[in-house]
Amino acid sequence: LHGWQRNQSRLIRTSSKAMTIMPAWVIDQYGNNDVLRFTNNASFPIINYPNEVIIKVFAAGLNPLDVSMRGGYGSATMAMKRDPLNIKQTGSEFPLILGRDVSGVIMECGLDVKYFRERDEVWAAIPPWKQGSLAEFVVLSANEISHKPKSISHTQAAAIPYVATTAWSALVNTGGLSKDNCANKRILILGGSGGVGTFAIQMLKAWGAHVTVTCSHNAEQFVKGLGADHVVDYTAGPVEELLSALEKFDLVLDNIGGDTEQWALGLLKPWTGAKYVTLVTPFLRNTDQLGVADGMLQTAATVATKVIKHLVKGVHYRWGFFAPSGPALDEIGKMVDAGQIRAVVEEMFSFSQVPQAFNKVEKGHARGKTVVEIS
Ligand code: NDP
Repeated sequence: LHGWQRNQSRLIRTSSKAMTIMPAWVIDQYGNNDVLRFTNNASFPIINYPNEVIIKVFAAGLNPLDVSMRGGYGSATMAMKRDPLNIKQTGSEFPLILGRDVSGVIMECGLDVKYFRERDEVWAAIPPWKQGSLAEFVVLSANEISHKPKSISHTQAAAIPYVATTAWSALVNTGGLSKDNCANKRILILGGSGGVGTFAIQMLKAWGAHVTVTCSHNAEQFVKGLGADHVVDYTAGPVEELLSALEKFDLVLDNIGGDTEQWALGLLKPWTGAKYVTLVTPFLRNTDQLGVADGMLQTAATVATKVIKHLVKGVHYRWGFFAPSGPALDEIGKMVDAGQIRAVVEEMFSFSQVPQAFNKVEKGHARGKTVVEIS
């Protein structure tokens, strides 16, 4: 064994025997940044199912969702996912650990885990109903993880999984795109300079699509550097007018929401199967406000009305959602190792600076990703 691996395995053996607690950033209630608390006494994760693994976290990525979840966003749906029979008390999710991206090394495998072994370097996007990566260890299912691409560091790797699996779910599963059908397609990304946008531009360019992006003036060169063919500055005037002067699109990925729905579907080629996929949906907000059952009903009614309204005009209206997927990350990892996709780390923070990292994400205007180095 090389020196690093020897140290690593020693660490793993000692830790799996001795550890019942670990360092982590937790929240004990929902609120602003003041609710973030560092502790050395967070519960060490346990393998509850035979297909689970425990990962030692080297780097964690933050997403806007972490800031929203810190404030309680999505708590009704997450509570239902964690406790479907509703037998636990309100607040049983606390102390809650945030952090949706992880890159690290496997410390222990459940008995049914075949594809991974202890000491494998892995990366994953952590479903929001599970404990997150702002901790020394995290437990995940083997189907949620993937071998980390070898050509990048753990810090770089932690910038990719959540936005990549979201973009994959929206563009591939919902949008119907693949590496084999993008060559002559015109794609519009509304909001190209943040986490999802910077990843989606690179993936679509690697698949041969023509990519138009909206962003603010000072991000134009940045998104062009990632491969965008055409950039429209949304701060220069009514963006819908600038965009409607262009040739129509086969797919619009909306990372912005708000009033974009009023005009973005008019930019699609009608009666060709063209799709508008938005990542900004009222689903979690509805379930927070109306409860899970009524919120889901309300959501289904809203989406059905919109789908039909646009279908009669010859375009498809869809909602996109994050979906955890080790197999998608396997494909994305190959593209990273082939040099087609690079990690766009805007700012790194140490484990002691987690509140500053949240502040950074909360301020908005992202130009790529914010990553926390854990160890
Ligand atoms: P980021 O915060 O990383 O990026 C948002 C980017 O959009 C920033 O670069 C911002 O820069 C830019 N921007 C803001 N306003 C506009 C505008 N009007 N036109 C064009 N660009 C704009 O967010 P993510 O990329 O991580 O996520 C994008 C969206 O997708 C978020 O709303 C997020 O909540 C959602 N999402 C939904 C998921 C789901 O499951 N449905 C999963 C993941 C994300 P600037 O302000 O300087 O222009």
